[in-house]
Amino acid sequence: MEKKVLVETSARHVHLSQEHIEALFGKGYQLTHKKDLSQPGQFACEERVDLIGPKGTITNVLILGPARPASQVEVSATDARSLGIKAPIRESGDVAGSGACTIAVGDKSVECAEGVIVAKRHIHMTPDDAEKYGLVDKQIVEVKVTSDDRTLTFGDVVVRVNPAFALAMHIDTDESNAALCKPGTMGVIL
Ligand SMILES: [Zn+2]
Repeated sequence: MEKKVLVETSARHVHLSQEHIEALFGKGYQLTHKKDLSQPGQFACEERVDLIGPKGTITNVLILGPARPASQVEVSATDARSLGIKAPIRESGDVAGSGACTIAVGDKSVECAEGVIVAKRHIHMTPDDAEKYGLVDKQIVEVKVTSDDRTLTFGDVVVRVNPAFALAMHIDTDESNAALCKPGTMGVIL
């Protein structure tokens, strides 16, 4: 059986703590839901932020909700370079000692001493998917992505199993461009 997975491209984005949401937008502020994402309960927000690093600024960056216990900034390696931030390859939530940046909205800003990462490429799946594919949580796999002129096999892909997930592989814009992915591109777990 071919172990197929939809490949989705994650553009640069931030997850904000409620404390940072209120510092940037005002006391008691709630983010505005714009669009559901493939992972249940996750959504894109209307609000945007600017990311400021020692070497540059990236404006109009997407916020993903809901609020999280700690803010986290997910950028591509290209973004990290243009910001002048050292951002390690990490799984979401693993931000100890990761990159620092300033998050700004208008004249309001918050300093993040850590939280800037380049997300480790990963596949979300439910326990049922994992059983069907013979995979376990945290397993590292290879995924072949077939595209016009840029077919590419990604190594170091971490499998993440959770009943709240939906089956999808997430890569960032650098990775997506490297394989010339487009909406609907499928990968095969090798
Ligand atoms: Zn993901």
